[in-house]
Amino acid sequence: MSSHPGEELNSPEPVTFESLRLSERVLAAIRVLGYEKPTPIQQQSIPAVLSGRDVIGASQTGTGKTAAFLLPILSRIEPCKTPSVLILEPTRELASQVFDAFRAMGKFTHNRAALLYGGVGYQDQLEALQKGANFIIATPGRLLDLIERRSLSLKSIGYVVLDETDRMLDMGFLPDVRRIVEMCPRERQTLLFSATMPPEISGLAGWALRDPVQIEIGARRSVAETINHAFYPVSIDQRDDLVLELLRRTDFASVMLFTRTKREADELFEIITRQTDHRVTVLHSDIPQNKRERALRGFREGEYDVIIATDIAARGLDISGVSHVINYRVPENPEDYVHRIGRTGRAEKEGDAFTILSADELEFAQAVERMIGRQVERRRLEDFDYVYTALLDDNLAPPRVKRKSSAPRRKRR
Ligand code: AMP
Repeated sequence: MSSHPGEELNSPEPVTFESLRLSERVLAAIRVLGYEKPTPIQQQSIPAVLSGRDVIGASQTGTGKTAAFLLPILSRIEPCKTPSVLILEPTRELASQVFDAFRAMGKFTHNRAALLYGGVGYQDQLEALQKGANFIIATPGRLLDLIERRSLSLKSIGYVVLDETDRMLDMGFLPDVRRIVEMCPRERQTLLFSATMPPEISGLAGWALRDPVQIEIGARRSVAETINHAFYPVSIDQRDDLVLELLRRTDFASVMLFTRTKREADELFEIITRQTDHRVTVLHSDIPQNKRERALRGFREGEYDVIIATDIAARGLDISGVSHVINYRVPENPEDYVHRIGRTGRAEKEGDAFTILSADELEFAQAVERMIGRQVERRRLEDFDYVYTALLDDNLAPPRVKRKSSAPRRKRR
């Protein structure tokens, strides 16, 4: 299996967490977490952050990005009762995951975090602030809300982390992000992470960061190298049959199935529940937060083996160990393809990604190929009763033999 490019070339000596000069308390937490060696983004980001530099990191999810900013900040920061670190996340799920990572990585330090996101009551969040949190992990809307209510001020912030910035752009949060950064002191360290770097984000980086160290892991806009991906052309009315057939023929440990709309997600849930033995759950924005959390937890713990999600619901979720992604439709936004596919092959495990392709989506498929800079292989399922579509006239790769997944079933996390 290939490793990340540049890993060997840049580091003739094996880099260890100890050699990166992290604090003893943080190193102790890493030992508990069981991380053996820093990932490429951690190798580059940790020294830069420790030396006080701003960082702009172009890196996909699943590369160890959270630890790349949390570990050095936790090593540098003196615990105190006023907000000094601000971490902005696009979704509450992602904010919760960073909060969990903070608790694990900072467990031997005396820092406290407040987790602030919308859609829930204020009481717990106000209490967390009143107790004196120096880490603020927040989504932009609720953060501004609390600032306007004078429950919190950003005047003492010394570190700003803008995480998953392209997702914040997609969700229309960039004006809020700017307002928030403007409220922070000029004397600060700013770290910006984004899987892709559209011009709006380069613009934000030029304005918010000072002489940043640029870190780029893998070719920009590339999909993780450990992923095999393919398009499965089919006529529109056979899409459901093909999904069922792919589920039947693939020996998977866990599947994340992406739809474009909430309705498609609900319909597929019905179809798969009715016609297969899979344990399925759904994640979309009409599903109440507590049910979404239950779905996610159930999927992580192996109670469900298939999770159906829309892009918005799946944004930034740390679901690692997904063996397969199936795209029920080609996403209209090619960046969503990269994000969806990023669910597999995380932490350098091998993953497969299937995309069902119908004639109305050809344009989107070509946009995906332009974005990732290569042609995605077209495959055809042997003995599937295809209805004719012109897409099948293209040169299709021969069918692949059913693959036994080597990994035993285990808890995901
Ligand atoms: P992230 O890119 O931050 O979402 O991290 C993806 C996954 O990789 C998470 O489950 C982390 O716990 C895990 N991870 C992060 N750093 C390391 C490391 N150095 N060694 C092994 N796993 C890691």
